[in-house]
Amino acid sequence: KVRMCKSFLRRNTFVLFTVAAVVVGIVLGFVLRPHNLSLREVKYFSFPGELLMRMLQMLVLPLIVSSLVTGISSLDSRASGKMGARAIIYYMVTTFIAVFIGIVMVIIIKPGKGNRDNPMSSSGSIESVQAADAFLDLIRNMFPPNLVEACFKQYKTLYKKTVFTKDITVLINASHDTNATKFSQVGNYSTVLQTIQETVEEMIPVSGSSNGVNALGLVVFSMFFGLVIGNMKQQGQPLKEFFDCLNDAIMRLVAILIWYAPIGILFLIAGKIIEMKDLAQVGGQLGMYTVCVIIGLLIHGLFILPLLFFLITRRNPYTFIGGLIQALVTALGTSSSSATLPITFRCLEENNHVDKRVTRFVLPVGATINMDGTALYEAVAAIFIAQVNSMDLNFGQILTISITATAASIGAAGIPQAGLVTMVIVLTSVGLPTEDITLIIAVDWFLDRLRTTTNVLGDSLGAGIVEHLSRQELQKLDTDTGNSETEE
Ligand code: ASP
Repeated sequence: KVRMCKSFLRRNTFVLFTVAAVVVGIVLGFVLRPHNLSLREVKYFSFPGELLMRMLQMLVLPLIVSSLVTGISSLDSRASGKMGARAIIYYMVTTFIAVFIGIVMVIIIKPGKGNRDNPMSSSGSIESVQAADAFLDLIRNMFPPNLVEACFKQYKTLYKKTVFTKDITVLINASHDTNATKFSQVGNYSTVLQTIQETVEEMIPVSGSSNGVNALGLVVFSMFFGLVIGNMKQQGQPLKEFFDCLNDAIMRLVAILIWYAPIGILFLIAGKIIEMKDLAQVGGQLGMYTVCVIIGLLIHGLFILPLLFFLITRRNPYTFIGGLIQALVTALGTSSSSATLPITFRCLEENNHVDKRVTRFVLPVGATINMDGTALYEAVAAIFIAQVNSMDLNFGQILTISITATAASIGAAGIPQAGLVTMVIVLTSVGLPTEDITLIIAVDWFLDRLRTTTNVLGDSLGAGIVEHLSRQELQKLDTDTGNSETEE
């Protein structure tokens, strides 16, 4: 028994550390909260967490490029075509299911209903922002004119600027009179307003160059680059070996980083708990909205996705999810599926033994475009805002919301609160006031963590499913190349 216990501890050391980090982080956060630390003190306190975030982000770029190039170039074009098609079908189907669950939840729970005597006017809708602009930006980001620039800069979108500079300023200026009634409907007016003022600075860099890696552009380029290298056969071998080696080196760095991850996660979580607003004030409609999103995410992540996984692979989904705990906790701590990507790779390859040719191909794509949690949240948020505005949506409008929520989730980068920004696409498509995004900002940091965790879960289960469906092609490649592993 003692030996069994020891071997269990040895096998699960990291998982235990990671889970312990979350628990200690939460406890420490609540213990320090009453001490009213200043913003500067909280920043100092969270520094180890900030470092983890930076280290993870540092690895993402070379990881995306090297894994996609090697993943695709080690498949033949038939296999990569089939695998890619399966992944895309899985992404679309699960994203639509997520949106559907969100819509059902928000229609049943009706978090935004009530207070009908005090309807919010939608006159503030910003005409200059069009859903079409956002769609075009999505396509533009797929083809960055400058690859080096794409490593640190997304296409500067029109809507990001409009919402987070102009609208918030207008709101803050006008907040004393008309908007006061709006805010009082969804939560405590002064808390919401305070959050907005503090968020302005935080949100503006999203459209700037500081943290907006254009992952979508790099994914598209790396996929084609990998395909071409694969077709060059012998001639492409040096490049293939280069990226192969780069990928291995990055994964070795991940293996070192993983020792530090629990410490970083502990401080990220504790720091956020210390600085969060008093939860008691987030009552009423905003509270119901939060509950609605959480229930939707739980249904999707804990029942629907595992069921799909079981039906297709006939394997126990919860054992598979058990192997993903470190990745899920990292997503919870960092709010970023891109930053979590290195850990997701490690969990899938080391713990769940998913074929590297599959993970290298589908994970970077999934982390960039497959966001079930974000899609669900976007649909709920849009309908919630309609309810608060006492606007009855017809079937066509709900359908529009489900399509645009899917597009908005694809367009959202895997960085913190990106989904909040792409909400504009959904709101404008059905004529809802874009400035009402500010109504849900107060709880967004929290929901962002949960939806990011769902996003990572969806990507990981997807890799397992695609591997299962592609086993024939993989076997054929193995017999062709005469080895059972990716050439390393
Ligand atoms: N933070 C999310 C992610 O990285 C995106 C979002 O804001 O919904 O997956």
